Amino acid sequence: MKRLLLLLLLAASTVFAAPRVGTHEGYTRVVFDLPRATTAQTKVTGQSVTVKLGLTLPAAQGKLNAPGVTAYAVAGGTVTVTLAKGYTRAQVSVLPPRDGQGARLVIDVPARSSAGVAAAPARPTAVTRPASTTKVTRPRVVLDPGHGGNDPGMQSRWVQEEQITLDVALRVRDELRRHGVDVVMTRETDRHLHPNKAADLDARSRLASNANTSAFVSIHVNASVNPAAHGIETYYFGQPLGGQNRSLAIAENGGGSIGQELTRQAASSAQNLLGDLLAQAKLAFSRQLAQKVQSRLIAATGAYDRGVQTDAFYVIRNPTTPAILIEIGFGSSPVEGPRLAQPAYRDRIAHAIARAILDFLNMK
Ligand SMILES: [Zn+2]
Repeated sequence: MKRLLLLLLLAASTVFAAPRVGTHEGYTRVVFDLPRATTAQTKVTGQSVTVKLGLTLPAAQGKLNAPGVTAYAVAGGTVTVTLAKGYTRAQVSVLPPRDGQGARLVIDVPARSSAGVAAAPARPTAVTRPASTTKVTRPRVVLDPGHGGNDPGMQSRWVQEEQITLDVALRVRDELRRHGVDVVMTRETDRHLHPNKAADLDARSRLASNANTSAFVSIHVNASVNPAAHGIETYYFGQPLGGQNRSLAIAENGGGSIGQELTRQAASSAQNLLGDLLAQAKLAFSRQLAQKVQSRLIAATGAYDRGVQTDAFYVIRNPTTPAILIEIGFGSSPVEGPRLAQPAYRDRIAHAIARAILDFLNMK
């Protein structure tokens, strides 16, 4: 009798605290609602994902019926999700309250098929709730045309960066929307988001810290005092590769002493992320996106391949979303500058970027 009562109590609390489970192409997402934002320490061992939260939740447990996950349990501040046989990886993040939604613990379990790096977060196909309502969500991508307003970016006799980045981003936006992607632009005209550079870059990156955002793509034009410098490079966040100087990150972070300070801050957060498993998982996705974009761009333009690189760009330092920064060419180059000034060339660049993003989202 006592045991029956206990089971009934367990069943009741299960209803109360049951997570939402979404089945997506490429991964399964389990979402627990939290009373407030908190810290999380994650351990994935064998068949279970254990998350220690900095708060206490009502006890609950139950079965999960979705690819990759079989059960969950909540006890005190610890949430455990049991993985299905053969599944060994998960990405865990705690999202702060935003857009009318409360704080959430999000556990993504990638599909089993891929080796090494997890499959890209793919187009959500259906989100099922225990209450059995079903809705279809479109993937959301944030495009960030670099600079604008009080900050024109690099300038040469052929191009002005803020104009080129906006034109390319608008073309990428149109192409993605044609394919059903929900696109958010950080700007659609020649404007800054804030006169202060740090606040401006914060406002841009904040647009991506939404649970439904699949990618953040910042578009820039490179510059060098050396007119022979040319080519395309794509960055994701991290410490610069050995021997590389910091001048590009400093310039893109606002230049001068502001750029130096923001680069210093971003570099120290890169250092802190090294031990953070969640951040490292997001960076693996970022790298995957960067590789796709870079190879599509080189194939489409024939430009010199400067490769996928890492550096401390302030605008992509937030690891809650796969995020990259593309330098689509050198406006200072007497070869690339005039090319970037041509709408047809910018269209080729935009299509290559859009194609790579669609590919990353597993969309046609
Ligand atoms: Zn720039």
